[in-house]
Amino acid sequence: MDSIRTSRFAETGAAPGIRVSFEFFPPKTAEMEQALWEAIRRLAPLLPTFVSVTYGAGGSTRERTHATVKRILAETMLTPAAHLTCVAATRAEVNAVVEAYAQAGVRHIVALRGDPPGGIGERFSPHPGGYRNAADLVAGIKRIADIEVSVSAYPEKHPESATVAADIDMLKAKVDAGATRAITQFFFENSLYFRYLDRVRAAGIDIPIVPGIVPVQNFKQTRNFAARAGTSVPDWLAARFDGLDDDPATRKLIAAAVAAEQVLDLVDHGVTDLHFYTMNRADLVYAICHLLGLRPGKEPSLAPPPRSEKERA
Ligand SMILES: Cc1cc2nc3c(=O)[nH]c(=O)nc-3n(C[C@H](O)[C@H](O)[C@H](O)COP(=O)(O)OP(=O)(O)OC[C@H]3O[C@@H](n4cnc5c(N)ncnc54)[C@H](O)[C@@H]3O)c2cc1C
Repeated sequence: MDSIRTSRFAETGAAPGIRVSFEFFPPKTAEMEQALWEAIRRLAPLLPTFVSVTYGAGGSTRERTHATVKRILAETMLTPAAHLTCVAATRAEVNAVVEAYAQAGVRHIVALRGDPPGGIGERFSPHPGGYRNAADLVAGIKRIADIEVSVSAYPEKHPESATVAADIDMLKAKVDAGATRAITQFFFENSLYFRYLDRVRAAGIDIPIVPGIVPVQNFKQTRNFAARAGTSVPDWLAARFDGLDDDPATRKLIAAAVAAEQVLDLVDHGVTDLHFYTMNRADLVYAICHLLGLRPGKEPSLAPPPRSEKERA
């Protein structure tokens, strides 16, 4: 019996205290909108703590992010968290977005600096009339409304940071400004996350540092994205997808196995909150949550559809 894997769930068959959140991106086309809503409807019954909606680089999806967040508020019982960046925008423009969210009933913002307009690698310079960085943005949001603010964290440091220590200083500034949760960039080696967590705690930061998990829907795409984000891709991961370029069915099974291994290990080491980068697809994420013991809740997760004029009359 020694060979049985020691997961707390192996004993309980349930997921005591596991909380998940899901990230989506705003759709560009009617087809993408449909795919997004299929994913939301599938994942909503798992009662995530919140669902977040990204903000395109430089605010390029401002309207679509807003529309998606509003639709989530109108058609589901979920708590949306709107991502917001401050790059290439004045304070007044950013403040107007925050005010509009507050008025629409949004109670959670993921506050980010954003990438420089020329992309990752270009030197960032704040807009002359804008927020200087993410910490400044957090403080600005907190001045406008009583909104929960989450921020980013980088277990392998941000590509622009000289050192992990500089990164942790920035995280501390964001917490001092009012952030109450950090969501990490994705990573594949849990040891990197735990080492980072030790350093964050040693710096006196005690907010939850929620690991961001990316199920590898497409290895090549993930590797390219990881290179830009400063996330290392271990050789063992590449080896697992080796030779599967033309075999999507096996790729999907491998992706589920890899993500399952990662999240179970995190949970075995005491992690209770997990944030999933869904890429607007539910199947892998749903399966992993099921494995974690999460089951559809009894409370409704979708709001009743709006009544038609005829019914209302
Ligand atoms: C959970 C998560 C969600 C995200 N969502 C979005 C999104 O919706 N839309 C989007 O456009 N982007 C998003 N990003 C990406 C993010 O905008 C970029 O990584 C951006 O480059 C940094 O933004 P930040 O808020 O993390 O920056 P900050 O927290 O301000 O900085 C990150 C680190 O970079 C270093 N740094 C910052 N500025 C400098 C500088 N000038 N010189 C040297 N070092 C510097 C600091 O040490 C700091 O620790 C997301 C990232 C994460 C982890």
